[in-house]
Amino acid sequence: MARLAAAAAVLVVGGSLAECRFQGRPQLTVRRAGFGKSSRGLSGGGDSTGGSGGVGSANVRQLREKAIDSGGSSESRTLPGSKPTYDGPPVAVVGGGLAGLACGLALRRLGVRAAIFDTGKRAPGGRASSKTFKRQGCTHIVDHAAQAFTAQGPEIRALVEEMEQEGVVQQWRGRVGSLSNTGQFTPRDETREGPLWIGSSSTGMAAVPTWLAAEQEVFQDVWVAKLEPVRGAPGAGWVLKTPKGKQLGEGRYSYVVMAHNGKCADRLINTLPEKTVAHAPLRCKFTAKASPTSDRLELSSLWVCILAVPRGSSPASFDGAFVESHAVLSWAGNNSAKYPRPQTGQSDVDVWTLISTAPYGSKNKCSQEFIPPEVRTKVSEEMRNAFCTLLGAPGVADSCEVLHMQLWGAAVPLNVCQQHFVHDAEARVGICGDWLTAPSVEGAMFSGLALADAVARELRGESLPSTPAQPFKRG
Ligand SMILES: Cc1cc2nc3c(=O)[nH]c(=O)nc-3n(C[C@H](O)[C@H](O)[C@H](O)COP(=O)(O)OP(=O)(O)OC[C@H]3O[C@@H](n4cnc5c(N)ncnc54)[C@H](O)[C@@H]3O)c2cc1C
Repeated sequence: MARLAAAAAVLVVGGSLAECRFQGRPQLTVRRAGFGKSSRGLSGGGDSTGGSGGVGSANVRQLREKAIDSGGSSESRTLPGSKPTYDGPPVAVVGGGLAGLACGLALRRLGVRAAIFDTGKRAPGGRASSKTFKRQGCTHIVDHAAQAFTAQGPEIRALVEEMEQEGVVQQWRGRVGSLSNTGQFTPRDETREGPLWIGSSSTGMAAVPTWLAAEQEVFQDVWVAKLEPVRGAPGAGWVLKTPKGKQLGEGRYSYVVMAHNGKCADRLINTLPEKTVAHAPLRCKFTAKASPTSDRLELSSLWVCILAVPRGSSPASFDGAFVESHAVLSWAGNNSAKYPRPQTGQSDVDVWTLISTAPYGSKNKCSQEFIPPEVRTKVSEEMRNAFCTLLGAPGVADSCEVLHMQLWGAAVPLNVCQQHFVHDAEARVGICGDWLTAPSVEGAMFSGLALADAVARELRGESLPSTPAQPFKRG
């Protein structure tokens, strides 16, 4: 119990170059304590699960088939390689981003079955996803949300080591740093800031969620719209329902992990008949600038432009850079240099990911699903022109081709609620995600691992106290 209290109380700041630069402040040092001591078994082969067939091993299974509004499979089974030490109903994890997937993986390694429910149509991963673009026989791997990540804490370093051994992640050895708004590049100080990690050359950042999800029970393309307590008694378990009221997955779940944020998470938690400690931290609003303190999560919106730039025409002296104090752009990264592939050398273009600033995203916000053509044209031209002008080559803009535009409506948390997870002991509902610990890949995965540890102990009867959220503070 003392260990959990320590884990919940420690404020973790920073954690990623990206999160800091997205918010325009210098990188802070990660302070971590408490959870490290209680993370037994997290790095595989722990005493409760054994090590064979761990996630990402050669025995990788396909993700489960789609379970669109059908209620999913009612099959109850033991996952290969796991030795459950808790034989109650599984845990339901709503959200298959990095936090939810890390939580599910850690639960499995702690001997607790878990099922992940995610809206992703093709694969889980949320804001860690990649796309492929084919051009003249050459396939370009493109990261269109998370670009790179840190592994500063021991738990995430251990996970990343496993992934590295299996070729899922690699250190980014490219020229990465920051770009002044006049186009001057300053390389990142890796000795001081530690390595940056990227995905595999064959699938990009999407390799990370795929690895975390392998061998887990993942229900894809499902929208959890309602949480119902079993027989009306909070604590006796949960049933998950689709928007059409159909029951999802196995039926009864012993604990619900909310591993997503935004308006839909707020709506979902409010389907519960009674208030829990998970209600308050799921309230949110959208803004471009965080308040110093707030009673709710504040989320930015960001535009992403995928741009094909004729090879040799761009004078860029870097592979990835945070753009300082710019009105339109906050990041520019060359995917073709980041993930070189056998045929990439023959390509006539480099494919870049451009990410807008939060104020620009907020100013040009529209429906994420149905972007009006005039907004798409305006934003794509402005981002493309800003990039070429920044490089000192405005004339190149016309020969660049915009391959894809995406608005991340709920992009990056601007404030965090200063703890690793939220846990309601009575209702058996918890929250993990990047807006609790640190708004980054590392923060999301760490939050998932930390909540898994608490859930496993709760289900084994340790009767942990509830951990309500702290007030949100600007990150
Ligand atoms: C453009 C962009 C660039 C970024 N760059 C970086 C970077 O370079 N480095 C870095 O460290 N971080 C970066 N980040 C942040 C990083 O991507 C996130 O911190 C991290 O991926 C968050 O993971 P998560 O699991 O907390 O949330 P999410 O990834 O948002 O996962 C939540 C999941 O829940 C699903 N879901 C939602 N509602 C439901 C429902 N009702 N039923 C079922 N499923 C549901 C969603 O579809 C989603 O898959 C970036 C983010 C963006 C948007």
